[in-house]
Amino acid sequence: MNAHEKDPGWQYLRLTREQMLQETSKPYDSKKNVWIPDAEEGYVAGQIVSKKGDTVTVTVDSTGAEKTLKKDLVQEVNPPKFEKTEDMSNLTFLNDASVLHNLRSRYSAMLIYTYSGLFCVVINPYKRLPIYTDSVARMFMGKRRNEMPPHLFAVSDEAYRNMLQNRENQSMLITGESGAGKTENTKKVIAYFAAVGASQAEAAEAAAAKKEKKETPKEKRVTLEDQIVRTNPVLEAFGNAKTVRNNNSSRFGKFIRIMFNKIGKVASCDIDHSPTIKKAGLKIQNQHRVRSGKLSNVGPADLLEKSRVIRQAPGERCYHIFYQIFSGHRPDLLEILKLHRPLKDYWYVAQAELTIDGVDDKEEFGMTEESFDILLFSEKEKMDCYRIISSIMHMGIMKFKQRPREEQAEPDEDPDTEPARAAEMFGVDLDQFLNAFVKPRVRVGNEWVSKGQNVDQVSWAMGAMSKALYARMFKWLVYKCNLTLDQKGLTRDYFIGVLDIAGFEIFDLNSFEQLWINFVNEKLQQFFNHHMFVLEQEEYAREGIEWVFIDFGLDLQACIELIEKKPKPPKGKQAEAHIAMKHYAGTVRYNCINWLEKNKDPLNDTVVQVMKGSKTNQLLLDVWADYVTQQEAAESAKSGGGKKGGKSGSFMTVSMIYRESLNNLMNMLNRTHPHFIRCIIPNEKKQSGLIDAALVMNQLTCNGVLEALRYPCFPRSPLERIRICRKGFPNRMLHPDFTQRYAILASQEARSSEDPKACAEKILLRLVKDKKLDMENFRIGHTKVFFKAGIVAHVEDLRDEKL
Ligand code: ADP
Ligand code: MG
Repeated sequence: MNAHEKDPGWQYLRLTREQMLQETSKPYDSKKNVWIPDAEEGYVAGQIVSKKGDTVTVTVDSTGAEKTLKKDLVQEVNPPKFEKTEDMSNLTFLNDASVLHNLRSRYSAMLIYTYSGLFCVVINPYKRLPIYTDSVARMFMGKRRNEMPPHLFAVSDEAYRNMLQNRENQSMLITGESGAGKTENTKKVIAYFAAVGASQAEAAEAAAAKKEKKETPKEKRVTLEDQIVRTNPVLEAFGNAKTVRNNNSSRFGKFIRIMFNKIGKVASCDIDHSPTIKKAGLKIQNQHRVRSGKLSNVGPADLLEKSRVIRQAPGERCYHIFYQIFSGHRPDLLEILKLHRPLKDYWYVAQAELTIDGVDDKEEFGMTEESFDILLFSEKEKMDCYRIISSIMHMGIMKFKQRPREEQAEPDEDPDTEPARAAEMFGVDLDQFLNAFVKPRVRVGNEWVSKGQNVDQVSWAMGAMSKALYARMFKWLVYKCNLTLDQKGLTRDYFIGVLDIAGFEIFDLNSFEQLWINFVNEKLQQFFNHHMFVLEQEEYAREGIEWVFIDFGLDLQACIELIEKKPKPPKGKQAEAHIAMKHYAGTVRYNCINWLEKNKDPLNDTVVQVMKGSKTNQLLLDVWADYVTQQEAAESAKSGGGKKGGKSGSFMTVSMIYRESLNNLMNMLNRTHPHFIRCIIPNEKKQSGLIDAALVMNQLTCNGVLEALRYPCFPRSPLERIRICRKGFPNRMLHPDFTQRYAILASQEARSSEDPKACAEKILLRLVKDKKLDMENFRIGHTKVFFKAGIVAHVEDLRDEKL
């Protein structure tokens, strides 16, 4: 047993020699063994008993039943030596059944990571495995990918080494459906880089100390690495929620960059950094004029799902923080926040679930608070956050009634209760606050007039204000984390960016939000295609293989252009109005109701003006700092535009913000060498060990794993694929490997030279001469032989005949 095998995590990473022998000794007949489609299992193993015309008769291994079916419905089975293979691009047969079988049988042994060529695929284990421990992390440090079993750490370490050796920024793109494990894997990646970067730092410190003959400092202090890891509990408390699919579902995207110096020490870190904003000086949010400001960074965190703040579907919750506040972890808190009613009374956050099985909100709040402290949030800043949370809850149950025969709302309760509590938390005057909602002031020409609001309008404005406040507070949290993480004084030479973002979505009802998520994924897929294309081209060039290239990355361009040109939703309330869009992962029908409204996202300007006068809540002032109200704009115009930024303000819609955010992201990613992690959710029951075949196959199709595996340089385009794939050379083998494996086909030629390339060439030419192989089906590169799709399988057959 080697040292690795003693680690409790190793059994979840690689089979033992005995297990491997057991797998490979299974009986196999390439002519008889097949996969046949099965409604439940996806595919089941069977044996061909007879063939007739274009049908075959097969017995199913598990039941012994006989089935007759069309020949092209059965798929080839790979030789047993490929059982539980660690890299599926090695498979002789790359059919759907074999890919599913390999992932399924690995998963049943809780080997959750598997390579698929350039991708690393991971299936959510739904249980804690000891594969992310310090000792496992240390095993992977400094090791090449092919020296170790598949693991997220192997990919991470590759990125780290690439960065240092090639002096190139790297990115880890982690995608998948909700509940597939993106966020869990992101956390592990971040922790790994923090650990590697820190060990690099320790080594440097130790060396320096040795030189100066000093002891290395041992005292516990909060390190940047700790702080990086602690951004998660904070952002998750405010940005994650229980959904039907995932008890801890992230409702926002994030792009974290860890910066390193030349020797690989962690130098700084940021979240959702967007370089263009700083230059622009004047930037805009929510269709309103805003001055330049620290909060106007635009990034994936802008995709925070705001509607959840005031509405939850059955089985779901609002953001964790609302329930954490009620958990009793800080007994004085509810009194301070004037939250005197039971949690279930606060309508905005109590429409569905209040607790989560297996989650202790009290404990979680302890973690949130501790992380706040480590990230240097002051007590006042924390409390201001909670005050905003509390006022949102108060606003949700403020009551209004309509005056008889008038379209005018007025408070319908003792103003000393909820409205007073909300106003107190905001630090604003109660009358002004209420008046702003029921009679907002608007400018008509040069006049200011009060515009009466009915009950529906008030309650709508209340919801919109709560959502906007929450989203802005979330942005502020990101900003504040960045402030702490921003290390002055250390040089930043490179970065590794880690992207955790929702994967492609097709629901029964797809709206504005889905369009944006799918658009982001469309862009990422194009990025991937382009990357593959470039790599493939480089490899062919390196190997001296002649090849005319077509960049199939451009394949997605039509769809991307269409969205970028804003497909305009039909006007008015047209319940039936839909558009359908052909994405790379499938066709999605979008429902366009409320798109224009969602896009404009209007706010009650007068309420903002009142909040801007807060006497006690500094955070409230900060979150509105970059928002220019009509009143401010008018004042600034009157004083000759003296007020900075006021005059030249312009408007920005939600889609403009998203587009800007996405462009920033793509610009950033284009400067990196990407690494792809595809997360797979195994079933919809959050159950460990259970594979829902249809669900898994669908994800493999959507995320491009199957396509990329079979057609490395042409990951898409069903029509072109067939034509082009006859031309491409997806399988390849090093000359010595080829010569050794196929010596049996031409033993003299295999021994004819010391040079493996010459031998490989002679073997191949022998096969051509014997009319067993066509010249067109392979190429001989400088170090490898390249084969067209399906040819290796044919050569394997030739070999089997000889054995
Ligand atoms: P996503 O971010 O893709 O929506 P999460 O990363 O939040 O999904 O994962 C959902 C849940 O699945 C987690 O809360 C956790 O319980 C479980 N899970 C996911 N990945 C792992 C893993 N590698 N090990 C253990 N549990 C995991
Ligand atoms: Mg997530």
